[in-house]
Amino acid sequence: MRVEELISKGLPESYVRVLEAEGITTLNPVQADAVNKGVLEGRNLVVSTPTASGKTLIAEMLLVKTVVNEGIGVYLTPLKALASEKHGEFNRLSRIGLKAGITTGDYDNPAEELRDYDIIVATYERFDSLLRLKPSWISRVKAIVIDEMHTIGDPDRGPIIEMIVARALKAGVQILGLSATIGNPHHLAEWIKGGLVDTPWRPVKLVEGYYSKSLRKIFFDNGVEESVEVNTGDRILDVVLHNLSMDYQTIVFIHNRRKVEEYAEKVSLKLPPTPEEEVEDFVAQLSEDPSSMEREFLTSLLRRGVGYHHAGLSSVGRRVVEEAFRSRVLRIVFATPTLAAGVNLPARRVVVSVKRYDASKGRTVSISVSEYKQMAGRAGRPRYDRVGESIIVDASSDREAVAFLRGRPEEVRGKLASSRNLRIHALSLLASREAASIEGLNDIFSLTFSAYYAGSKTFLESLTGETINYLLKTNMVVEKNGFLEATSLGKITSYTYLDPATVDTWRRIKPPLPSDAYVLHVVTITPDFLRSAPYIPSRIIEEFEEGALEMSRHGIIPSPGRVEADYDDWLASYVYAMILVDWINETPEDAIISKYSIGPGDLFNIKETATWIVSSLAKIESVLGDRRMYRHLQRLSMRLEEGVKEDALELTRVENIGRVRARILIEHGIKSINDLAEAPLEKLSSLPRFGPRVARSVKEWLRKRGYTVKE
Ligand code: ADP
Repeated sequence: MRVEELISKGLPESYVRVLEAEGITTLNPVQADAVNKGVLEGRNLVVSTPTASGKTLIAEMLLVKTVVNEGIGVYLTPLKALASEKHGEFNRLSRIGLKAGITTGDYDNPAEELRDYDIIVATYERFDSLLRLKPSWISRVKAIVIDEMHTIGDPDRGPIIEMIVARALKAGVQILGLSATIGNPHHLAEWIKGGLVDTPWRPVKLVEGYYSKSLRKIFFDNGVEESVEVNTGDRILDVVLHNLSMDYQTIVFIHNRRKVEEYAEKVSLKLPPTPEEEVEDFVAQLSEDPSSMEREFLTSLLRRGVGYHHAGLSSVGRRVVEEAFRSRVLRIVFATPTLAAGVNLPARRVVVSVKRYDASKGRTVSISVSEYKQMAGRAGRPRYDRVGESIIVDASSDREAVAFLRGRPEEVRGKLASSRNLRIHALSLLASREAASIEGLNDIFSLTFSAYYAGSKTFLESLTGETINYLLKTNMVVEKNGFLEATSLGKITSYTYLDPATVDTWRRIKPPLPSDAYVLHVVTITPDFLRSAPYIPSRIIEEFEEGALEMSRHGIIPSPGRVEADYDDWLASYVYAMILVDWINETPEDAIISKYSIGPGDLFNIKETATWIVSSLAKIESVLGDRRMYRHLQRLSMRLEEGVKEDALELTRVENIGRVRARILIEHGIKSINDLAEAPLEKLSSLPRFGPRVARSVKEWLRKRGYTVKE
């Protein structure tokens, strides 16, 4: 189908010209199928196809059509990084007069300002929070695109998708689901009463294979065999070096961060240096890396054309690795599977380890077929390759490897039926007044994928009663004249996006008087914190045990007996709290990272989660009426955001001044924004970590905000 034909389907000619100018003159088979199945005529649709099969364009056509029909189109992704990527793409539609906006953080901000936008990109969580806050523009949303819809099988985030879609179904809002290949896309389609596009079509052919250790050969499913001559005694290393000898740009997926780094180092020692002019740009970018250890390690790898990628990496490090790989300066990247779930980073070859350690079982297990297919699918770079190859490197036997190649991805199912998910989403429906009774809740729950999959309308009903009892008991909800109503505590809990159990934990064990260590220990023991807390090795945690018990004896932190969690969680939470205490007392990042054996990315995530919880608890306290605690929590949340002591908070409000520069200023007698405005430019320029460029930009920032600035 030629894009020209889209005009007769109601898309503006100006949009079609934009596509043509970008070299998109015909729709690919996946896109044509979606159009034929009525995506531009208001029909719900699920598209379940491999990566790079052009799903974004289907979404974009629908969003443009929605605006033509005078509605707002919404595009939802699981990750902030993906949201920015898509927003960047839709932004070019400003050429035809469409405004694309983005919102990803600030869960309790109703974002009224977005009313002037035609397309809104958000994360699932952020849009879920907007459905609770109900900005005026929400009633104008006429289509919702759910990117990465297979995430519906995730126990935490899946139910958020379910609830967004259930509400859309109720309100008659059009739904387009974009999914990786899964076992039961027809279930998703049937659930939303829509059509289905389900083909293995890919722009670059995928050949899957496995390495047979005993035969020292790679067997591909198209019959091709490759002998592996390298013999180091380590099969991952053998296959990787074999690929590199053939000059194939490769991603290696391994389910263990430490191994990811170790292999990257080992391989880098075997490769020749990359020409300096190719890497200098990337090395320069790494100067912003908050951790000098990470900076030095990544730089040494980069100079040999090697990178690594996992959640512990700083955002600067991640960006540099992704860009250097895309521009082909890196020949190989070792990554944990988070890379396959997020960014669009294809490689000529993908090497997949199908084993991971399962802590709950205490042994190594095989990954699922879906996980494997998601990683294998990264092979083949559109525009560079005619074909891409994936290689399983560590199956228990050749038979297991073949089972992966021939296997069908598992079915996804709904995950709403847990007490955590039900209490969060029931409270949300009551707080937004979309329901006012158990029947009302069940009406909406019956439209979820969980209810559909169970094949029974009454499936969740037995659980709703229990959920309401919990919400009544924790004062989130009251019963009035036979109706259920969220209390002001319940409403603020729902608007801040906290789990009611987090608020309950806080209310039960908060300190009588504000104190940082105590507050932070309570915060780190809440379900909202522990849910996303990074792994800390037990040998590190044990080192803190004596100190923890000592502090609890003195009442500086809650004692193990006061909290509901078990002793191990109490102790681990203490360690997270100490990380945060170090952070707000300006301990250098490098020192924190090595003391607790975490990565800079982990530190960033910990402080972001804690900032959100503490600033939300401040709002809870303002409703509960404890002014003193409210003020303490508010200051604490700002200190957590910036990583500073009290006296540096004011200075960090200035752009380009973070924890390190603020302390340098204070040490040189510049203690406030007014001092900064009055300090001579020359003095500022001469301070460590400043220089003329930063000094000038600081002065400029102050001037723009109306300060009388001395030069
Ligand atoms: P997906 O969302 O399925 O992972 P993308 O939408 O990112 O895939 O598409 C992959 C690439 O293919 C993009 O660079 C896009 O510009 C290009 N592309 C998509 N559709 C077409 C088309 N019809 N003709 C030419 N290129 C296309």
